[in-house]
Amino acid sequence: MNTNLKIGLEIHRQINTHKLFCNCPSELIDKEPDFQIKRYLRAVESEIGEKDIVAQFEVTKGKHAIYQGYKDKTCLLETDEEPPHSINPSALKAILEVALLLNCKVQRNIQVMRKQVLDLSNTSGFQRTALVATDGFVEVNGKKIGINTICLEEDAARKISEGKDFVIFRLDRLGIPLIEITTKPDIKNAEEAKEVAAYLGMLIKSTGKFKSGLGTIRQDVNLSINNNPRIELKGVQDLDTMNKVINIEVKRQLDLLKESKKIVPEVRKVNQDLTTSFLRPMPGAARMYVETDHPEIEISDRMLKSIKLPKLITEKAIDLEKEFKLSAQLAKEILDVENKFRDYVKKYKNLETEFIARTLIEIPKEIKTRLKFDISKLKDKNFEFVFENINNKTIPKSAAIEILSEICEDKTINLEKYKTLSEVEVERIIKEIVNKNKEAPFNALMGIAMGRLKGKADGSKVAELIKKNLN
Ligand SMILES: [Zn+2]
Repeated sequence: MNTNLKIGLEIHRQINTHKLFCNCPSELIDKEPDFQIKRYLRAVESEIGEKDIVAQFEVTKGKHAIYQGYKDKTCLLETDEEPPHSINPSALKAILEVALLLNCKVQRNIQVMRKQVLDLSNTSGFQRTALVATDGFVEVNGKKIGINTICLEEDAARKISEGKDFVIFRLDRLGIPLIEITTKPDIKNAEEAKEVAAYLGMLIKSTGKFKSGLGTIRQDVNLSINNNPRIELKGVQDLDTMNKVINIEVKRQLDLLKESKKIVPEVRKVNQDLTTSFLRPMPGAARMYVETDHPEIEISDRMLKSIKLPKLITEKAIDLEKEFKLSAQLAKEILDVENKFRDYVKKYKNLETEFIARTLIEIPKEIKTRLKFDISKLKDKNFEFVFENINNKTIPKSAAIEILSEICEDKTINLEKYKTLSEVEVERIIKEIVNKNKEAPFNALMGIAMGRLKGKADGSKVAELIKKNLN
């Protein structure tokens, strides 16, 4: 069935610098707070006598907020008792870099705005946001996807817990600078949405100026089918499930239409089982007003020219692939530990670069998936121990996975067990195996020999000696 699906993405990512309008650190704090403050939200009529639909909805929930703060890690700005300081220039630079990478038109006069936020996640009732760039594009798999806007925003306070009539927020997250990228609704299906999100994630990461890890990336999906009203899906955390979430939501909307029910514009949250449920009404359009406490920011030619664009991760991976003769996949993954990898290549001259890369990336994966061991126990010094001993030919390459698995199991490593046998000794054992199994084909002999010599001789040497002794 043709659903004329239109999807737009909204991607948020924390910038790796101090807070946007004060000098407090951008870090989440787990220790007990130094103080708590309690606030209530009331809906008041505007000058023309209307109450905001979102405000009314939130107020009917009848909750008050408790904000937790720290004497040395949060300040009067987070508690909304002080106007914003000057915008953090590092955050602004990070955003400009992404804007240029996404072929956007940069605003030359940036105005900080207040965006109404009424779920109590902000002490002031609004989030400061600045439109930095518009009208760009990104090419994913040969298709152009429009970039609508790029904004620099403050993150909201962190929800800690919730009771019947209260919500507890921590102020540590409030004010952490965020990039918000919104695409045009050019995406036509769930799979494409996932690809575009992954590409944007890669592009942002390429600058090296953003945080990574749980909670630092948040994605919302806007979608409509057959020109029905737009639905916003909030908090699509995981790229791997994004396409499933979209497909389930499309089916829900199609089912509604089949029953001749109306699709109402609303914000829905993504549940654990990847279905969605109603979160709040779609906010009205007029919920932005000027932040009068911050002056306009001028972006000069000099500032724009001073921005050096980074090489994209995808381009860097291709370079590594060529330089070290790695597979495309291995090259991409080794990028995360590129400096370490290069150090090891320099230090362990007898080892093939591909072996070093495989040991760093694929062996831990194999230990995790096949043996189900906890690979977080593997530290640099463990890899160095293995490389060192293989490099000076004390143990064979095949011992790498054995030793690293034993480390994950907290076993004491007995190097004697793995010591490389001399070629004479290996050949003696192989002759014995060949003589005992006269009719056995090569593969069977190889199996028997490796079972006996595992970790003590290299597979290629064993194969060579079997072939030699078969004749
Ligand atoms: Zn502060």
